[in-house]
Amino acid sequence: MAAADNALAKLRNIGIMAHIDAGKTTTTERILFYTGITYKIGEVHEGAAVMDWMEQEQERGITITSAATKVEWKGHPINIIDTPGHVDFTVEVERNLRVLDGAIAVYDGVAGVEPQTENVWRQADKYNVPRMCFVNKLDRTGADFFRCVQMMIDRLNATPLVLQIPIGLEGDHIGVVDLIGMRALTWRGETQKGEDYAIEEIPAGLADDAAEWREKLIETLADVDDTVMEKYLEGEELSAEAIKAGIRRATVAGKANPVLCGSAFKNKGIQPMLDAVIDFLPSPLDIPAIEGTATDGETPLLRKPSMSEPFSALAFKIQTDKHLGKLTYVRLYSGKLESGSQVINSTKDRKERIGKIYQMHANKREERATAQAGDIIAVQGSSRPPLVTRCATRPTR
Ligand code: GDP
Repeated sequence: MAAADNALAKLRNIGIMAHIDAGKTTTTERILFYTGITYKIGEVHEGAAVMDWMEQEQERGITITSAATKVEWKGHPINIIDTPGHVDFTVEVERNLRVLDGAIAVYDGVAGVEPQTENVWRQADKYNVPRMCFVNKLDRTGADFFRCVQMMIDRLNATPLVLQIPIGLEGDHIGVVDLIGMRALTWRGETQKGEDYAIEEIPAGLADDAAEWREKLIETLADVDDTVMEKYLEGEELSAEAIKAGIRRATVAGKANPVLCGSAFKNKGIQPMLDAVIDFLPSPLDIPAIEGTATDGETPLLRKPSMSEPFSALAFKIQTDKHLGKLTYVRLYSGKLESGSQVINSTKDRKERIGKIYQMHANKREERATAQAGDIIAVQGSSRPPLVTRCATRPTR
């Protein structure tokens, strides 16, 4: 694999989908926070550092409305594409679903699967977007993790791969059992943002449940993954690595949905969720070649997700930035895009000049000379109406 494509393997382009009030904003905000502070963990108790974080956080509160925001977790760049949850924005949801490679569905642990999650879930099915699930709000009165998992089966026709079970619910919710590593991850008491979890033995009262759910995880995985099935039938003990590899294959193929849980508001469960994004959701290289048409509007073309292929991209959102004016958000599928270059707008069948290219982060924007396959960037339009770059449709994976 070329070095550039190797870098592409690390990238994740994800969206967060939820019924209104399930906790999408809180979860996103926590992701921005944790990804922003990872390099500072250890300084948490120093006054200056805390101030610094709070200022950054305030700034993030403003920039969170960006259509796509780039963050980094453990050396992996992650683009978070804003997916509107409201049912009125269905067309917008669909357009956004076309540009993301994977998604996290957030559920209210009390309400479970709600109508808007159902809608977005079906749209994501249509575009074959691999998904994992985060059952949020387990600190709330009436929270029921297993009921929510059952609703995913009954209402969404999903194949949940339960990777964690909660330790305690409502006021007693202190953490989760990690069923792959068979250990307890805990955030005790009034958890501060940025606090890492403690790793403990599985509480005695949960040992049987954990063993049972681990078995169920492996059985479900064997059903959807041949490699795991072979090992399972041979009675081979599956290593954590083999289980993870199986979960990744099944998730990328859209055959199953890893399920994690916690409480975004109480800062519980976010770090393992980010680990799961890296471990199980696809990179742009995992996505099959994009189908589109040549400039004659007829000849079908395929573009592989690689820098060495010719350029293809899809403009998915136009937004006004208070400093930069009109911005067109673009997902590149193949090739490269240079500021000042010309591209063909296939919907209008004409050449258009690319203005400045920006990478939007949570708390800053960065001008870039070029962008490449897999990237999600914002282009400052020089033309009116704002330019739309060459479109490649994305019918199947
Ligand atoms: P969104 O509409 O999906 O973006 O939901 P928000 O993130 O705005 O959350 C809706 C409400 O639920 C807000 O009042 C949040 O503070 C609250 N909330 C979010 N996550 C949790 C959680 O884990 N536990 C509790 N108890 N409340 C939460």
